[in-house]
Amino acid sequence: MQKISLKTIYLVALSAVFAVSFLMFVLFDLQSQQRQTEAAMLEEARTFAREMDAVWQFMDNSQTVINTTSDGVYEFKGLHCSRVGKSVGALFSKGSDYTIRYTNFNPRNSQDEPDAFEAQALEAFNANAAVTEYYEVADFQGVERFRYAQALEVDKSCLECHGEPAGEVDITGKVKEGWTLDSVGGAISIVIPLDQQQQAVRDNVVRDVVYFLFITLLIGAVVYAVTTFFVFRPLNRMKLAFTEMGEGKLAVSLDDAHAAREVSRLIERFNSMAAELHATYDHLEDQVESRTDELRRANVALEQQRDALERLNEKLAEETQFKSDLLSMVNHELRTPLTSIITFAQISREACPPDRESERHSWEEIEKNSQILLTMINDMLDIARSDAGSVHVACEPMDLGDIVSSVRGTMTPLARKYCVAFRTRVASDVPLVNGDFEKTQRMLENLASNAIKFTPDGGTVELRVDLDAGNGSVRLCMADDGIGIAPEDHERIFERFFQVDSTSTRKYNGSGLGLALVREYAAVQGFAVSVESALGRGSTFTITIPPDAIVG
Ligand code: ADP
Repeated sequence: MQKISLKTIYLVALSAVFAVSFLMFVLFDLQSQQRQTEAAMLEEARTFAREMDAVWQFMDNSQTVINTTSDGVYEFKGLHCSRVGKSVGALFSKGSDYTIRYTNFNPRNSQDEPDAFEAQALEAFNANAAVTEYYEVADFQGVERFRYAQALEVDKSCLECHGEPAGEVDITGKVKEGWTLDSVGGAISIVIPLDQQQQAVRDNVVRDVVYFLFITLLIGAVVYAVTTFFVFRPLNRMKLAFTEMGEGKLAVSLDDAHAAREVSRLIERFNSMAAELHATYDHLEDQVESRTDELRRANVALEQQRDALERLNEKLAEETQFKSDLLSMVNHELRTPLTSIITFAQISREACPPDRESERHSWEEIEKNSQILLTMINDMLDIARSDAGSVHVACEPMDLGDIVSSVRGTMTPLARKYCVAFRTRVASDVPLVNGDFEKTQRMLENLASNAIKFTPDGGTVELRVDLDAGNGSVRLCMADDGIGIAPEDHERIFERFFQVDSTSTRKYNGSGLGLALVREYAAVQGFAVSVESALGRGSTFTITIPPDAIVG
């Protein structure tokens, strides 16, 4: 929604206040002028009435003098108060817009018949003796006039001509009305023209309105000028300054010399805000510059690192190539002849006559050491394959009984050579499990060959397979009563190339890769491997197959 400007709000509010107060002023002024005029005319009418009453009283008091001849004889001249009063009134009215006349309901003269206003006044006087005057702006001969009527009470002087008995002829020759003392005998009716007064009212109102307009416009102009100079102008400057700031010119400072105190405070705040913004912006620019520098340097360092990485990558690629060449060389150039040597040694040992014990022993030694060498090579190749990520892991149902039989087949001759008893036991409730047959067999062979190797002559190695009824897992335990492993080495023996000590390394052949391979093969199948052992008290290695690997 479009916002209305302060000037417009100001103008509309002032105009509304002006219009309302102007209207109220005109109404009030008109009314008060009219009230004043009415009061003045009432006073004028009352004065006329008092004057006419004075004439009436004078004539009444002068009757004896008027009606007595110079000889002292009574002679009625007909110049009674009523006639004189009416005559004076008629004379006064003649040639002017004023009218003074006497009236009552049954006048002796038809000219004195009351008109509508006078009839209302007479009725009001007759109805309530306390009402002695009656006035209003009313019609008189087709023109609006100020009308005034005053009651004429019957006194003693009236009774002579108008009193009782009714019907009697009075001194003037007219029939008496039979009035009583203090009743209403009629009314004096005064008509005052309104034109001049109305004109005066109009003139006064016009004068007042002009004055009011002048004062209001003057006040409005002063308010407008003051507000424009002390408020609007500074605000406008501030608006322009904001626009400049929006365009990026932050070095703005406004002068508050001709601003009102409130606006001046606003300008002060604006100036300090602009200064802060300017300083922040400068600081920001510095920061951006320094950050850009840092970024540039980081970029250069990154490029250098990228170059170094590329070089390393190239080197690694070369090394990988070399490793792969070496492995394939080991695979073909060592394994093949070693297998032939083992086979040849076996044949030769078996062909050796019983009387040549030392020769047979030599063939046995060749066969044993070649077998150890082959195991080492196989471990190395498997570890290398695992590092290269080229190990394929099968996940199919396998019968652990079959694996155990196979391990027994391979390990029994070795155990015999080491003069160690090798036993296996598979519980009847062991289920089929999902896994890789060859890798599981290889794990058990590694554990078995270690157990045989590290068990002195006459010792026992046992491979047990059972189902843990508690948690539903299957456990494969390789237990021996050999030299045992110190607790601090329990974790380290699974590291590559770790062997417990140099003495044992010398005494027992090995590469230090067997257990590392066991742990890796266990991990890829989702199995766990753990060891329980103490020095001199044998060792038990356990492979735990989780319940979710059980088939069905
Ligand atoms: P190695 O080729 O030396 O046997 P392994 O990784 O198979 O390598 O074993 C690591 C080391 O763990 C062995 O050198 C040995 O010190 C210790 N070890 C493994 N199995 C046994 C065991 N059954 N009894 C005692 N020590 C063992």
